[in-house]
Amino acid sequence: MKETDDKGSRQTISANNSHKRSSRSEFDFIKQLRTGTSTNPPNSIIGDDAAVIKTSGEKETVITTDLLVEDIDFRRTTTPPYLLGHKALAVSLSDIAAMGARPRWSLISIGVPQDVWDTNFVDKFYEGFFELAGRYDVQLIGGDTSRTPEKVVIDSIVLGEASASASIKRSGASAGDHVFVTGSLGAAAAGLRLIERGAHLADQNLGEAEAEALDHLLLRHLRPEPRVGWGMILGQERLATAMIDLSDGLSSDLNHLCRESEVGVLVDSTQIPIDIQVRELCGRRRLDPLQLSLNGGEDFELLFTVKPENVRRLPRRVDGVGITFIGEIRPAAEGINLREGSRVWELKPEGWEHF
Ligand code: ADP
Ligand code: MG
Repeated sequence: MKETDDKGSRQTISANNSHKRSSRSEFDFIKQLRTGTSTNPPNSIIGDDAAVIKTSGEKETVITTDLLVEDIDFRRTTTPPYLLGHKALAVSLSDIAAMGARPRWSLISIGVPQDVWDTNFVDKFYEGFFELAGRYDVQLIGGDTSRTPEKVVIDSIVLGEASASASIKRSGASAGDHVFVTGSLGAAAAGLRLIERGAHLADQNLGEAEAEALDHLLLRHLRPEPRVGWGMILGQERLATAMIDLSDGLSSDLNHLCRESEVGVLVDSTQIPIDIQVRELCGRRRLDPLQLSLNGGEDFELLFTVKPENVRRLPRRVDGVGITFIGEIRPAAEGINLREGSRVWELKPEGWEHF
C-alpha cells in the first residue's frame, strides 16, 4: 500500500500508482478519443459528464456510465455492500445532475467472484441501490451479471432527461461569470484517509461527539449524496452557464470546466467551503483541510457558473443544501488561479487520476 500523501483522495487506494506517472494519462487517452486518429473518427459528444442525445423536438436524453473496480475504486473489506449499491448509483446520478437533467433509468452490470456470489453480497448491494433509486424515482431497466476471477466490478449506467437545449455542458462559462459550489468539500477525502488508517463507523472507543464527527466524514466517502435537486433546478431554470460534478477534486474538475469553456478563473481560497468536521478533526490528525478540499476527490458536489445578472435568481438552499460563491471566471489568458491572502498561485489539477 502506498503511503498516504496530500494528493487525490483515491490515490491512497490505488497501490503503486506512482510508477506509472510517465505513461499516457487517462485524460490524454480521452482527448485522443475526441480528436480521433488516422484509424478512428473524431467524436464531438465525448468529453462531458454525460452524453447528450437529441431524442425529440422537446427533449434530450443524457447518458453516463461509471465503472467501480474493487481495490481501485473501493475496498470490499471496508465498504458494506449496501453502501456500495448506494454509491454505484450515486456516482452516476451525480453526473446526470451535473448536466442539469432529471435522472430516469438505470442499468447495472455486476461481475463477482464465486465466493462473493455465495454470500448475501449481491442482495445487500441491490438493497442499497433501490433505497437511493426509490428516492429519485429512478427505474432499473436492465444490466448484466457475470463472474470474475477475484474482484468485484460494477458498471453503472444512468439515463436522464432534460428539456431541449437545457442540459448544461462544461463548456458554457465566460469571463465575468460567478463560480459556485454546492455543499462542502474535503470530507469524502478525509473519510477515505481515516478508513485507510483503520477508522470505522460508530467507533466505541471515541466520545459521542467525536464518534459522530468521524461517522460524518466516513459516510461522506462511503455514502455520497448526489446533488440531484440542485442539478435539476439549475437546468430547468437555465441558471448555470457551465457545470461539472466534483468527482476528481476541485482543482482537477475546475481545470476541466475552464479548459472546455476556454476561460481562466480566480478562486478565493478563503471562500472554499471546507467541511466543518474536516477543519475540526483533520488538523489534529495531520491532514491539511485545504489540500483535502482542493485535491481530494469524491465530494460529488456540483461546481457551476452563473451570469452575474442571474445570481439573485439562485435559490439559497435545495434539499437543505446551500451554495457558496468561490470566485470569478476570467479571460483564458489570465490562467487558472487561486488567491491565498495577497498571493496568487496557479491552481494545478492535482486531484485523482487512474493512471
Ligand atoms: P466523469 O468523471 O464525469 O465520469 P470521465 O472523466 O470518466 O467523466 O469521462 C470524461 C468523458 O470521457 C466522458 O464523456 C466519458 O464518457 C468519456 N470516456 C471516458 N472513458 C472512455 C472510454 N473508455 N471510451 C469512450 N469514452 C470514454
Ligand atoms: Mg462527472
